[in-house]
Amino acid sequence: MTQPTPAAAVLAGLDRARPWLEDLYRDLHAHPELSTAEHRTAQRVVDEVRALPGGEGLEVVTGIGGTGVGVVVRNGDGPTVLLRADMDGLPVQEDTGLDYASTVFAENRQGECVPVMHACGHDTHVATLLAALRLLLEGCGAWSGTVLAVFQPAEEQYNGAEAMVEDGLVDRLPRPDVALSQHVLPGPSGSVQVAAGPIMASCDDFRITLHGRGGHASAPHQAIDPVVMAASLVMRLQTIVSRRVDPTRTAVVTVGRISAGTKTNIIPSVAEIEGTVRTYDAGVAATCLAAIEQAARAEAAAWGAPEPQLETFDHLPVTDNDPAVTERARAALVAELGEDRVLPFEPEGGSEDFSVLPDAWGIPYTYWGFGAFDPEEWARAEREGTTGELPSNHSAHFAPVLQPTLDTGVRAMVAAALAWLAP
Ligand code: ZN
Ligand code: ZN
Repeated sequence: MTQPTPAAAVLAGLDRARPWLEDLYRDLHAHPELSTAEHRTAQRVVDEVRALPGGEGLEVVTGIGGTGVGVVVRNGDGPTVLLRADMDGLPVQEDTGLDYASTVFAENRQGECVPVMHACGHDTHVATLLAALRLLLEGCGAWSGTVLAVFQPAEEQYNGAEAMVEDGLVDRLPRPDVALSQHVLPGPSGSVQVAAGPIMASCDDFRITLHGRGGHASAPHQAIDPVVMAASLVMRLQTIVSRRVDPTRTAVVTVGRISAGTKTNIIPSVAEIEGTVRTYDAGVAATCLAAIEQAARAEAAAWGAPEPQLETFDHLPVTDNDPAVTERARAALVAELGEDRVLPFEPEGGSEDFSVLPDAWGIPYTYWGFGAFDPEEWARAEREGTTGELPSNHSAHFAPVLQPTLDTGVRAMVAAALAWLAP
């Protein structure tokens, strides 16, 4: 008789855990919380961990960077593996028709009442990481080392990982040797998406305040019109990627918000532009930000207007998967799911703050995707070239199929972790 592999031994518990996993997911989905307000979710994580076999004795650190939770499972000698899930939802009115759809409203940072939805699928991350923890605890005879599960707040606000680091993450939790994380993404359910190198873009958001001189709409010659100035600047910013960035590199410069004025017959005195720069290279990001500043100053000078103000905020680094770590995880995912279920990760310009956690310790990491869509629906959309039209992350219609999405998230996390804990 041959011994089952460590992954097979640990994942043997999945059949029994599945009803609990699916109930947990549906409950998290129906109760999303905004970034930094993940109180119920964090409490649910702690309650579920305490209810696990041996969970009462586990080291659980709460309130890291707000609602962040760290769970430490020490199981003999061996490496320490960080497994991370983000917990927050988004201000989106859910329109999926699911019987476990969110009807939640909450107050945002501006004090407005907004609908809340797990529109990015972070509920799948929390549920699958809790399930992976449960199976690893139940199957602790099959591996050796330390698991550090990190439940992170405020990914959608770009600063949850940073908040955990600033709140003493590296002193409050054991130092890991490697960090692993995953995201539910467009793709066939049952598959994962893996790639080494830069897979998620850096993000630098910017705000430009243009100062003109207000006046009557019928006398523009007596005013300096910041609306026309802003319109001209937006067009100029769109030449940065085509004229300033090395054509062998890529970047995105998007102006996502523009605001000025109150009434048709008034030339306002101020206009505000907000946008974002996304790249896979820190040098390209610096080029874009410098060009934005030059364009803003030049635009104001061209109108004889006062100096504009430029602020940058919400910086996120490139998510740059370590090649050796990624190859080790990939081999484990192939062994668990099969070669045809391990697809390439296609960079799409999205950004992530996961890498801030491993960077705080200076440890390598890898981050992969797992598919959310019915495989037949996905295959049909691929044939028709319409995969981009399927409602994906951040859409009010984003509804990952329950299975095999959840099972795949659990199997991927367990198999990849065991590549270090039971090599
Ligand atoms: Zn998101
Ligand atoms: Zn997300």
